[in-house]
Amino acid sequence: MKQHPGTNPPTFRTTVSGITDGGLHLSESYCYPRGGGQPGDVGVISSSDHSAEFSEVQGGDFILHPVDDPSIFNVGDGVECEIDVIRRNRNTRMHTAQHVFSAMANELFGAETVGNQISEGYTRIDLWFPDRDQFNAGDMAVAVNDALRTDSNVSIHEWDRDRILSHEQMRHTKFMDRIPSSIEMLRVVEIDGIDLCPCGGTHVANTSDVDDITITNSRSKGAGKLRITYE
Ligand SMILES: [Zn+2]
Repeated sequence: MKQHPGTNPPTFRTTVSGITDGGLHLSESYCYPRGGGQPGDVGVISSSDHSAEFSEVQGGDFILHPVDDPSIFNVGDGVECEIDVIRRNRNTRMHTAQHVFSAMANELFGAETVGNQISEGYTRIDLWFPDRDQFNAGDMAVAVNDALRTDSNVSIHEWDRDRILSHEQMRHTKFMDRIPSSIEMLRVVEIDGIDLCPCGGTHVANTSDVDDITITNSRSKGAGKLRITYE
């Protein structure tokens, strides 16, 4: 099930497939592992006998659900995994807002997003500008909030690399070099009329789910770059 909902992910049942010093591997997991600027999920894993909170889920060859004492579980245990929905929903909204922010910065100022990190309650985004003196936080916030208020649908596609790289509206494809070529189909996120880019993060179904943003800070991050913080 690739299109697990970005918000309100339901509790799922699975089995413990591996145990390391740091935590548990599950035979299937719908937890979001930290990556792409988006924090990983946290939550609770329960077997019939035991229950443990897991801290921020980590990616890698196998998704790791870190728990304090993994030895209370056994490989093969049937478990229930409950994702912290409030945290996930917040991160999902913040992450979708970041797509809109990056798209509008590109449209208004020709800026390229070179990094981003979502934290509790705020996001910082690093942008490279052809001419960063052109940047204007007021215009930027208005453009983002106007775009969010268009009630645009967000859809997820599975497209191959050729289709992604040949699409004229596609943004943010440079990082695709870092994804192993054995992975042929990539997830593409489309925010109707606003943004189209490959992305593995979690997203709301419609921009009406995202509140307005407020830009709180911008400062130099080296030649041509600004680090912008918004809530
Ligand atoms: Zn995304």
